Amino acid sequence: MNTTATFSSAEVALVGAGPIGIELAVLLKRAGIDYLHFDARQIGYTISWFAPQTRFFSSNERIAIAGVPLQTAYQTKCTQEQYLAYLRSVVLQFDLKVNTYEPVVNVERAGDEFVLTTRRADGQRTYRVRKLVLATGGTAKPRRLNVPGEDLPHVSHYFSDPHAFFQKDVLIVGGRNSAVEAALRSHYCGARVAISYRRALFDAASIKYWLLPEINGLIQSARIKGYFNTTVKEIHPSGAALTREDGPPIDVSADFVLLLIGYEADMTLCRLAGVELKEPGQVPVFDPVTMETNVPGIYVAGTAIAGTQAKYAVFIENCHVHAERIVASLTGAKPPAAPPTPERPES
Ligand code: NAP
Repeated sequence: MNTTATFSSAEVALVGAGPIGIELAVLLKRAGIDYLHFDARQIGYTISWFAPQTRFFSSNERIAIAGVPLQTAYQTKCTQEQYLAYLRSVVLQFDLKVNTYEPVVNVERAGDEFVLTTRRADGQRTYRVRKLVLATGGTAKPRRLNVPGEDLPHVSHYFSDPHAFFQKDVLIVGGRNSAVEAALRSHYCGARVAISYRRALFDAASIKYWLLPEINGLIQSARIKGYFNTTVKEIHPSGAALTREDGPPIDVSADFVLLLIGYEADMTLCRLAGVELKEPGQVPVFDPVTMETNVPGIYVAGTAIAGTQAKYAVFIENCHVHAERIVASLTGAKPPAAPPTPERPES
């Protein structure tokens, strides 16, 4: 690997090219603010690992960004593929420059500037900026069970493509929307599905109302096998050992094991930059009027403002105002009015 150190500077660096990062880039460009935009991977990366044809729970108008309408052919909720195409179109329409596959690996203060170090395939680069916006999302990596066998080849922390599970035994672990949606789709795809959940019942408040009767009905009719009040003790090459409080351990056969137990934010850059992070969840400390953190000149935007969420309350749909607040703070304009009393998030 060539190691080069190219200094380049801008007023603002924006890290993260998910929907809110891209929306903020449009607003920065409109405001004439000189900025650099980085993402460790491709734009919309965390959306790209949704299973094919996964539909957003949020309606299209709530996840549309920068005033660009999001239309779908049959007025259905947007799929993963449609939304990624939409994000690409927004980047093209506004001619945004995103330094993709260029992770920011260090942040240091130097006087009234920040020095960012990035690591590209061709070496390291450094950049100097006056302000830094971290829009690094809330689901950078899957939560881990920390049990033996978790990294065996038939185990995944993602629901990829249910076709892979046709006529196979699949054990799904988890009990909210990801686990339930994966169980239903895998079942209809022809997999023999079992689901292990650590509680006695699915919680109606945590699962979409249209998924709940379907999963409960399939479990009651034994077309999906439900192992409630169970936890995974160990995963082995042909299945998993489950423990339960009210009975002996159970060994479940499985060709594939999907651990769909939620995701964690990566707050490393906040930490490196000295942003105070509150537990639980490493929630950054920031001023909700400006989105500026306890470190002057460093802002947070998007779902990163909530760190790792135990019960999701911050979604794309209620983050759009962050971009307006940050641009107002950078330009010295009056902060935007608080959005009207938000309707219940649909996500
Ligand atoms: P989640 O809501 O965080 O749920 C995680 C599940 O894993 C919970 O049932 C939790 O149990 C269980 N769990 C966590 N840690 C565990 C452990 N150590 N051992 C055993 N079980 C554990 O995650 P999610 O279901 O992936 O959903 C994440 C977000 O994505 C949500 O906002 C969801 O609505 C959204 N989503 C959207 C779509 C879509 O738009 N189509 C699809 C799926 C998900 P407890 O219930 O006991 O806490």
